[in-house]
Amino acid sequence: MQYFNGERSTNTDAQLATMRSNVAGIARVNRRSKTRQQEIEQAALRLTERLQRTLDVQALLQFFCQEITALVPCDSTSYQNLDQNLGYSYGSKGTHICQYNLELEGVYLGDLVCTRNIPFGDQDLLVIETLTAALVYPLRNALMYQQAMNMALQDPLTGVGNRKAMENAIAREQNIVERYDTPFAMLMIDIDFFKKINDNFGHRAGDATLKNVSHEILSIIRQSDELFRYGGEEFVVLLNNSDTDSALLMAERIRLAIEKVETLCEIDNLHETIKVTVSIGVANFNKKECMDHLFNRADQALYVAKDSGRNQVCVAA
Ligand code: GH3
Ligand code: MG
Ligand code: MG
Repeated sequence: MQYFNGERSTNTDAQLATMRSNVAGIARVNRRSKTRQQEIEQAALRLTERLQRTLDVQALLQFFCQEITALVPCDSTSYQNLDQNLGYSYGSKGTHICQYNLELEGVYLGDLVCTRNIPFGDQDLLVIETLTAALVYPLRNALMYQQAMNMALQDPLTGVGNRKAMENAIAREQNIVERYDTPFAMLMIDIDFFKKINDNFGHRAGDATLKNVSHEILSIIRQSDELFRYGGEEFVVLLNNSDTDSALLMAERIRLAIEKVETLCEIDNLHETIKVTVSIGVANFNKKECMDHLFNRADQALYVAKDSGRNQVCVAA
């Protein structure tokens, strides 16, 4: 664990006067610092107990930041873990920074930053470090748990969400739609004649094509939209806050972009370029409709697109 404290300002006259009066009353100071020490130990114990109750990284950090700010007034506390793409921030940033690079047994656990508009003193750092020591083991366990959960919901080939992740996301979106009455659409995308790609260029080239197609779709959809690999060469995009017209527009953009994607492969020392097209079924979520019904309507629309010659977009009835 290492920290970089922000620049310290020189003591003002008022601070020097306070320091002198503190020297004069040693007994009082000792009593007070003892109470302070007890306060820190109690906070560390309380925190340890709270941190043991959850494996949710965000909840852990919330507890931690609450305890820190109760003892050391901070304007902001934030946590970032670049490896796991996690970032939480509470409060607005101050000018003085106290930063810790969290590591346990050589494993990176993230970066913790506290800021405020007055410098951090040694006592403040002692509090932060005592509480941080209580955080590291529970944080390591929570990060490992989160990583395992993420892997269970991720398609290993393309890195996008799998079918289970898609079902979770649809249930979440349905709740939002019911509550806020915002439109929501589903695109069901299927690569045309994909079996031929495997037959002509081999399974590995087929895998590379699947990766390129998913990356291309990801590069087109909005950050708030979600892409899932539903099955072999079938993908689903969930478009939140999208009516039928904007969903159709997005589907058409995807279809046109995929036409241009080229996957390069080498067969018998010859360089080959693989190109594919996709058919897309679009369905807008009707209020009170169950997940299976929405899914079936998107699937029906996809079937019509296939039946009408492929490389086209069709909207569900
Ligand atoms: P259509 O236009 O009707 O969709 O024809 P298609 O050939 O794409 O459809 P079909 O369902 O007959 O074939 C899908 C193929 O996708 C068959 C299967 O071998 C291939 N596939 C499924 N998963 C994977 C995978 O992970 N990697 C590779 N390379 N191929 C896969
Ligand atoms: Mg298919
Ligand atoms: Mg297909």
